[in-house]
Amino acid sequence: MFIEIDKVIKKIKEKNYKRILIQVPEGLKTEVVKIADKIEKQTKAQVFISVEPCYGACDLPLEEARILRSDLIVHLGHSDFGVKTEIPVFYIPVYFDLKIPEKLKEEISKIKEENLAIYSSEPFKKILDDLENYLLKIGKKIVSKKIILGCSEMKNSAEANIFVGSGNFHPLVLRGKTYFLDLEKNRLGDLTAEIKKEEMKKKARILKFEEAKKVGILVSVKPGQFYKDYDIIKKKIEREGKEGKILVLDEITNEKLGRFGFDAYLNTGCPRILDNKFGKPIINLKDLF
Ligand code: SF4
Repeated sequence: MFIEIDKVIKKIKEKNYKRILIQVPEGLKTEVVKIADKIEKQTKAQVFISVEPCYGACDLPLEEARILRSDLIVHLGHSDFGVKTEIPVFYIPVYFDLKIPEKLKEEISKIKEENLAIYSSEPFKKILDDLENYLLKIGKKIVSKKIILGCSEMKNSAEANIFVGSGNFHPLVLRGKTYFLDLEKNRLGDLTAEIKKEEMKKKARILKFEEAKKVGILVSVKPGQFYKDYDIIKKKIEREGKEGKILVLDEITNEKLGRFGFDAYLNTGCPRILDNKFGKPIINLKDLF
């Protein structure tokens, strides 16, 4: 794993930041104390560690930083999501410097499709370059190459997709024929059936939502997830003969929604909260309008 901490230290010294709040996703929590220690020793700044879960660069700890009077947030593990902030944020991505194992190259060479779109999540972007080079070497055509998020909106652009990385979270946003080069399990799988199943589940959820009379419109206050046009959505819902109420929350969980008596929910926050189980039908805004 490769983290560019020296770059952060250089910037902190240059700008003379004094009170720094560090935020990391779950996978980096075992490293964060060491990182904080290094920054503290080398810059003499006071370093705070944010402990709340962090799901992406959409999820910055702005309120904690304000209370602590931090002059900088250091966000490790993701790139800039485009959230506008008063307190400056340094985004420090984390990379795996790996090559595709020979065994997996052999598997890849059996892929029949010629025109391919290739994808990875950010930590695996160096391996994506390796995959591109190998595919070109064996005569394939790369029609698209992208780093994707769990909320990226994807369209079919090739005969088949190849996603390289670990875990199903990211490749399930892809559409159509999709291979998954799973570096954790060291195998090439086919995710096409699972992707279709997700699409079927989405259609079923929309049908159930259409029957609902009372709808809770979920608005997350996470900085990169907040949907400012909630009022327009409420009016649209009401024009369809439904009763709509706006529910404001930070993290959206089933436990928080249990007691309100709504027939269904419309989610305007992170679309991937639907990967969790909810007691009532729930759909994403982009699935409806
Ligand atoms: S909105 Fe959801 S999927 Fe997108 S970056 Fe944030 S946590 Fe990840």
